[in-house]
Amino acid sequence: MSEPEVFEVFAIKYARHDRTAELNFMDSSDFHDSNMPIDYFVWVARSKNRTYVIDTGFNTKTASKRNKEIMRCPVESLKLVDVDPADVENVIITHLHYDHVGNFDLFPNCKFHLQEDEMSYATGKYMGHKHFRHPFDVGHVTGMVREVYKGRVQFHDGDAELAPGFSIHRIGGHTAGLQVVQVYTKRGWVVLASDASHLYGNMELENPYPIIFKSNEMVEGFQKLRDLADSNDHIIPGHDPLVLDYYPALSDDLEGIVVRLDVAPSKG
Ligand SMILES: [Zn+2]
Repeated sequence: MSEPEVFEVFAIKYARHDRTAELNFMDSSDFHDSNMPIDYFVWVARSKNRTYVIDTGFNTKTASKRNKEIMRCPVESLKLVDVDPADVENVIITHLHYDHVGNFDLFPNCKFHLQEDEMSYATGKYMGHKHFRHPFDVGHVTGMVREVYKGRVQFHDGDAELAPGFSIHRIGGHTAGLQVVQVYTKRGWVVLASDASHLYGNMELENPYPIIFKSNEMVEGFQKLRDLADSNDHIIPGHDPLVLDYYPALSDDLEGIVVRLDVAPSKG
C-alpha cells in the first residue's frame, strides 16, 4: 500500500435547528426535554494533490419548507476554504437525506460517490412509508437518478479507498447506505461520521438518533467508527454544535463558521 497523503480537514457550519433532546435520542428520558440544538455542516478534505467535498447541505427553499434556519449557502461557503465548486472533481454523498444532498446541482464538474444501497433504498419500497421517506426530498432523489444517467455517479458497495489516506465505509443504520469517511491527517486517522452519530452523545451513550432504518447497524456502527479512528477524539459527529467549541476556527473572522478538524480538539 502506498503511503497515505496528509489531508487538511474542515467543517463548515451553514445552518442550525433549535429543538429539544427528545428529537435527538431514542431514549430521551434522562434529558427532561432540555433544549438541544443541532448544527448542519459540510466538510472538506484537502491534500497537496486533491480535494474532496463531503456532503452538499440544503438551500433556502428547503430551509423554509422544513422550518430550519439557514445561515449561508453551504456551497458558496466552500470559498471560505479556497475551494471553487466549479473545480471540485469528487463529492462524497454520505446519504441522500435532504440536508446532505441538496445543492448537488451546484457542482457542474464533479463525480458523486454514493453507496449502491443508498440509491436502492431511496428509490425502493421503503419510501412508501412516511417514517422512512420524510427526511428525503423526492426532487433530490430524482435529480441524483438523472446524474446516474449522465454518468456522474460512482457507486460503491461497502468500503472503498479513493486515494491513499482517504476512504469511505458503509455503515448503514440511519439509512440503508449511509457511509462515513476515514481520512489521514497530521494527527492521525480522523473519521467524519456524518449521521452514523449525529451528536457525541449518540455514540458515547449508545443512544441512537431516532430517525433510523436499522437499529442493529446503527449501534454496531458506533464501534465501527471507533475502529476506523485513532481515538474517540478523532471521530467527528455529523450535527453536534460542540464541534465548533472543541476545534479551532480557521481564522478569527471565521469563528463559529469554519473549524479545522486535522488538529487535536481542546475540550477544556
Ligand atoms: Zn440523515
